[in-house]
Amino acid sequence: MSNPTGMAVGPTGMAVRLENVSKSFDGVLALDEVSLALPAGTMLALLGPSGCGKTTALRLIAGFERPDTGLVEVNGRRVASASSMVPPERRRIGLVFQDLALFPHLSVRANVTYGIRRDPDQQVRADELLELVGLADDAERMPHELSGGMQQRVALARALAPRPDVLLLDEPFSSLDQAMRTQLRAEVREILREARQSAIFVTHDQGEALTVADQVAVMTRGRVLQVAPPEHIYAEPATPYVATFVGVANLVPGDVRPSAAETRFGPVPLIGPGSRELSGHGLVLLRPEHFAIAEAPDGPAEDGGWEVIARRFSGSEILLEVRAADGQRLWVEAGGRVRHLGIGDHVQVTLREIETVAFGRRASGSAEATIELPIIEPARSRPAR
Ligand code: ATP
Repeated sequence: MSNPTGMAVGPTGMAVRLENVSKSFDGVLALDEVSLALPAGTMLALLGPSGCGKTTALRLIAGFERPDTGLVEVNGRRVASASSMVPPERRRIGLVFQDLALFPHLSVRANVTYGIRRDPDQQVRADELLELVGLADDAERMPHELSGGMQQRVALARALAPRPDVLLLDEPFSSLDQAMRTQLRAEVREILREARQSAIFVTHDQGEALTVADQVAVMTRGRVLQVAPPEHIYAEPATPYVATFVGVANLVPGDVRPSAAETRFGPVPLIGPGSRELSGHGLVLLRPEHFAIAEAPDGPAEDGGWEVIARRFSGSEILLEVRAADGQRLWVEAGGRVRHLGIGDHVQVTLREIETVAFGRRASGSAEATIELPIIEPARSRPAR
């Protein structure tokens, strides 16, 4: 079997597969029964806070670590289990790690051809890749003459040169400034798409994961909580932790019935398979863009209304934190005619016509799930669009 680029595709159609992989270091469980599958030609982001096991997962796939239990397959071929281990150089894997520097004494072209120097077509391949990464006119330059973003594109071309079955990228943009980062991640996405390259990249930046990947896997404490396409994971997160990690999340108490919840803003239709099993007291996910706000013309309402207690401006958007008299706080989006609102202003908050998910007690179950939230302050994470 082959995909449109001519790269071999294993019998499973999966570029990478992890089955029940666990890995401990000195008693610390870095990966806890992780199962993942990357369809050939797609991009997966491993997203999670520091220490959740992202890099360990990548290192296990690359062959730098051996799993304690479970198995790893690359392109349908078993490359690691508790009893077998294919060495990294025989796994057909390309690496773009943050600290994997270019060879400083070699030109751009020589860096790109380094891994294929015995290939008679190496110059043709280098021309093709330099064209792909937009560096066709820079082939003879030396790494120190290039910007950080250009150097990362050379690293990408170098990793792609041997036509790896899968490319692994570990925080590939983290050393770049914000503008370069935004530009390069869009470029890398297009480059990998065009090459139909299977890739897994690690990031702790949810905006990056949502904008670059076809599928996002959210991890915490060595476990994968959910794997889904970016828009799905944002709209229908499986747990409160995922909801909060992929964007700003207001978790508002509600009386949850199958397919709808009664909240202080009125009834809210629920979506997702999990919602059908819910019953009783729960938490309803409301994103900042789910609300409309307006200035309260006569100051505080009789019941106290909502008061702005924080304002966050990030250029393209403004988020306001508002508080009700009973202490309920919300992050709401404030664009257009309410851009000028600030701390101390009184506002009216209404819910738009939306559908969302709720978390809480299962109709059939007894105990309410313990709600675990990311340690990051939601206010610091940006909502994705
Ligand atoms: P970061 O974003 O900070 O790199 P991460 O999500 O990639 O974090 P890992 O580097 O995979 O997380 O680490 C997961 C856990 O395993 C952490 O508790 C870490 O300290 C531990 N760990 C990872 N590698 C080793 C090692 N070689 N020796 C001992 N402990 C390790």
